[in-house]
Amino acid sequence: MILIHPPVAKPCEPPAGVAKLSGALSSHGINHTILDANIEALLYIVSSTHLQADKQYDKWTARSLRNISGNHASIRNGRIFHNIDRYKRTVIDLNHAVELWADKGATPGIANYRHKYLSPLRSDDLLLAAEHPEENPYYPYFSKRLPTLVERNTAQVVGFSLNYLSQALCTFAMAGFLKQHFPGLSIVLGGGLVTSWMKNPDWANPFGGLIDQLVAGPGERKLLAILGADDIKEEHFRPDYGLLPLDDYLAPGRILPYSASSGCYWNKCSFCPEKAENNPYVPIPVDTAIDDLNELIRLTGPFLVHLLDNAISSPLLKRLAGNAGGVPWYGFARISRLLTDIEFCRGLKKSGCVMLKLGLESGDQGVLDKMHKGIDLETASLALKTLKKAGIATYVYLIFGTPEETLPAARKTLEFVARHKDEIGFLNVALFNMPICGPEASRFETSSFYEGDLSLYTDFSHPGGWNRKEVRLFLENEFKKHRAVSGILMKDPPIFTSNHAAFFVM
Ligand code: SF4
Repeated sequence: MILIHPPVAKPCEPPAGVAKLSGALSSHGINHTILDANIEALLYIVSSTHLQADKQYDKWTARSLRNISGNHASIRNGRIFHNIDRYKRTVIDLNHAVELWADKGATPGIANYRHKYLSPLRSDDLLLAAEHPEENPYYPYFSKRLPTLVERNTAQVVGFSLNYLSQALCTFAMAGFLKQHFPGLSIVLGGGLVTSWMKNPDWANPFGGLIDQLVAGPGERKLLAILGADDIKEEHFRPDYGLLPLDDYLAPGRILPYSASSGCYWNKCSFCPEKAENNPYVPIPVDTAIDDLNELIRLTGPFLVHLLDNAISSPLLKRLAGNAGGVPWYGFARISRLLTDIEFCRGLKKSGCVMLKLGLESGDQGVLDKMHKGIDLETASLALKTLKKAGIATYVYLIFGTPEETLPAARKTLEFVARHKDEIGFLNVALFNMPICGPEASRFETSSFYEGDLSLYTDFSHPGGWNRKEVRLFLENEFKKHRAVSGILMKDPPIFTSNHAAFFVM
């Protein structure tokens, strides 16, 4: 079988989803190969895009095209990571050159894919992309690559790992191409986005005839069953990165992604899609996770480990903190008393922890309580100061426009950030999207602002009149303009955001 990671997703690390599936297939002796079409398509564009002597360009475009290979190389050799301004210029220029690749309404980027007429939120548009793969800007790449791969591997099943909206139109274009040229192939579609679609209570499969099997949730056991493996005894399969091009990714060293759990152990935050989708928390036992990490580090020699858990559990954090001299790592942790203990944080630092991502969400205690966030601001403040003292950078996540928030509450968030400007390394500022299948959607007057049958979010009428337009105005005119906030935001790596931030603090 062939496992495909389709374009377009951030191309800075090997895809963890297909590595997990590969581990499961290998453990059952199932012959397979992996195609990271995302990184291959990017390399294809970089190697085949040139400044054309007979064309007129504006200054920025000419510079971006002239330097496309050099900019690609600079992100990989790491030299620009010493200077955020050089980094920004390099990444933005590379993205601009990649965007110029397409016409016919499509705009592919390094980490995004937009289309003027087709929306990944409409099943009709996805089916149209499948019917006309030749319209996809990556067609010159995949129309050569896919047939060779299918024939060489005499594959009968092809699985796509579809996790982001930015991958959807290209996934369907590739699936459509395969069905047209190899009608006997069985197409399996799984991944985070497919899971979200299928968790919607109104879900009705619109893709019959194109997609043979849709898989929701962790796919290892389900894929093994589809492939006819019986007697699946294992509870856990170690990911296998052996079939991925580990040295091709857009980062100054190998990144090893690893999840020690799926779902979230807290699972209470009212705004959270994990909770709305009722995804169960399934942790890997701490000993097993540590064994996996040690073995994967030995096999892949990473420069940085990226822990993908929605929130790294306290038992795993404690084990990591007791393990000095590890490879640098970063990941999401919940703000807790544990992070106010300087000795513990120093232990984390010694274990290799270079950055923690923290979901603070709001600087107003009333909002936090109503959202069931389970953190208090005193602890958050102390945790930020303690982590700073221990030498661990923080990437703080905020969310504005929740039903619980008002303008005065949003201003308290601004005050909190301003008070902690020296402790907060990076900021992610998000506008609240109400999950369509969450409990809150039934409590408020809702209306669809996303135009498709596959929308995951819904608009709602804010009980305090704090609607999207007002929230946006506050963010643009007040929050982001505050000197403390703009100083932090200026440090944020564009496009790659937290995926590259750790390289600036190592
Ligand atoms: S801690 Fe994060 S992942 Fe867990 S429920 Fe809250 S928002 Fe969701």
